[in-house]
Amino acid sequence: MNTNFADTTKKLGFGLMRLPKLPEDKTKIDVEQVKEMVDLFLDAGCTYFDTAYVYDGGASEAAAKEALIDRHDRESFTIATKLNAWLGKPDEASAKKQLETSLERTGARYIDFYLLHALQLNNKTIYEDYGLWDFVREQKKKGLIKHWGFSFHATPEMLDELLTKYDDAEFVQLQINYADWENENIASRRCYEVARKHGKEIVVMEPVKGGMLATPPPKIQELFKKELPDASFASWAIRYVASMEGIITVLSGMSDLEQMKDNLSYMKDFQPLTAREQELIAEAQRIIAESDTVPCTACEYCKPGCPVNIAIPGVIRAVNEWRVYQNKAQADRRYMFSTQGSGLAKDCIACGQCEGACPQSLPIISLMREAAGLFD
Ligand code: SF4
Ligand code: SF4
Repeated sequence: MNTNFADTTKKLGFGLMRLPKLPEDKTKIDVEQVKEMVDLFLDAGCTYFDTAYVYDGGASEAAAKEALIDRHDRESFTIATKLNAWLGKPDEASAKKQLETSLERTGARYIDFYLLHALQLNNKTIYEDYGLWDFVREQKKKGLIKHWGFSFHATPEMLDELLTKYDDAEFVQLQINYADWENENIASRRCYEVARKHGKEIVVMEPVKGGMLATPPPKIQELFKKELPDASFASWAIRYVASMEGIITVLSGMSDLEQMKDNLSYMKDFQPLTAREQELIAEAQRIIAESDTVPCTACEYCKPGCPVNIAIPGVIRAVNEWRVYQNKAQADRRYMFSTQGSGLAKDCIACGQCEGACPQSLPIISLMREAAGLFD
């Protein structure tokens, strides 16, 4: 089935995965700030909001209700949420119940874009065994879902197989950014090409690679600043993916009002990259290909099952800061901050749980060893 969302949707989507937290209580979402972000976003003509059943233990969906759904005309925006059949190991009935819970938490009455969440090699059979592909079709017939698709973190071959088997999926959500375009694990380019071959439009996730491209390596910063001194580094990353054909919207997981303002400054009246800007992105890709960063997106799928409670993405971020910037003091600070209240890298017992859950197939055990050697 071919769709036509790309022509009708503004290219900036509001990802509700990393919402701001209250300064006095980092476990709670700062809903008042989210309200301001939502209002600015809608005022700019943007409409696509993206949450998930599992984000922030349900607090993201609840914040969407309070900041968006209870305050704005239901027809003035679209909301996406996701069914996750593997995190927390739900049985079939509880997996199916997630839609009902999402509808209750958000108060949205219907979900515009409903996704089977984070399909990857080690969980695709669960979605099949639980009959979830038929489940979303049935919910669409009932009117509880307007459109359905899936988010995806695996090989182009598996994407091809899924889009052949479930060819009525209306869209796919893929991880695409300039750093991962040719990355062998993530294979952004090849996955994009497979989706387009099947005539699918794409929602882009991780355009700034979990925040890493907001502060790219110094050589890339220099390159971009020389060309556009006032443009943020994130703007290059977001405009890069938004310039591609068949993109419904580019999700930016904005964490404060400043990020929202920055994103809107170039996405409200989006201009695709010029040929010259595309050349500079190609140069940035060459610089990244020659460096040695760990492609962790901070999705945190590895974290909940760690028996010694290691803040794995934070530890990897510290390793990356060391590898890219070679600034030990800064990397030490990052490590200390990331491991507050959690296990240390040296506590890793090499159980392998995290490696099975990681959509990027990262060698987490050896990274924990590297971090222990650097920081513990
Ligand atoms: S391998 Fe180490 S980091 Fe990974 S889940 Fe097990 S203990 Fe935690
Ligand atoms: S190590 Fe893998 S699962 Fe964990 S946060 Fe990074 S990308 Fe996600």
